[in-house]
Amino acid sequence: MTYVVGLTGGIGSGKSATTAQFETLGITVIDADIVARQVVMPGTPCLKAIAEHFGPQILSQEGQLDRKALRQKVFSNPEEKNWLNELLHPAIRQEILTQLEQAQSPYAILSAPLLLENGLEQYCQRVIVVDVPETTQIERTVQRDDSPRTEVEAIMAAQLSREKRLEKADDVLHNDGSLEMLQKQVNDLHQRYLAATVAQEK
Ligand code: ADP
Repeated sequence: MTYVVGLTGGIGSGKSATTAQFETLGITVIDADIVARQVVMPGTPCLKAIAEHFGPQILSQEGQLDRKALRQKVFSNPEEKNWLNELLHPAIRQEILTQLEQAQSPYAILSAPLLLENGLEQYCQRVIVVDVPETTQIERTVQRDDSPRTEVEAIMAAQLSREKRLEKADDVLHNDGSLEMLQKQVNDLHQRYLAATVAQEK
């Protein structure tokens, strides 16, 4: 069984910066946001179900999911939103488990903004939380996405609070310093996880 390390943190905390470093170290990273797009690619059972439910106008001319059209359909329609979640959540979970099983590196990282909110930590031996003060989170996200501060705050309001997230952490990456300082902390954790996987095999 793959040794799985969960990785989470609020928007703009530095999850992508962290997974990039784990990938540099040769570790397989499974990103829940990427899986969420993979399960609705052309030819998937989920996309077929969505097209049947909402009609063919939910697809672009090339047969891709029109995400904007879908968002409009479920926005302010809780029933449709539930229908969609009940279709997608199990499919995403199953695909995550399949990809984790196939991982070839000594351990694998499962990165998800809503890892704890969605109960994905049950598949993880350990959970890393990337932590920054909320002000830093807002500043970095505004700069990265060029999106209004109020939009970032609304996303943060739908995520666990900093305190609640930290309570569930086995390991914390403090990302209020430089990128080099983050990378050094990742390298240290990497050594610990390698040692843990060797111990597990014995
Ligand atoms: P997340 O994936 O958690 O939303 P990112 O990894 O995209 O967060 O980081 C948010 C933004 O902040 C990105 O533009 C990233 O390059 C930048 N960033 C991340 N860590 C640092 C750091 N230690 N110092 C400066 N900028 C950082």
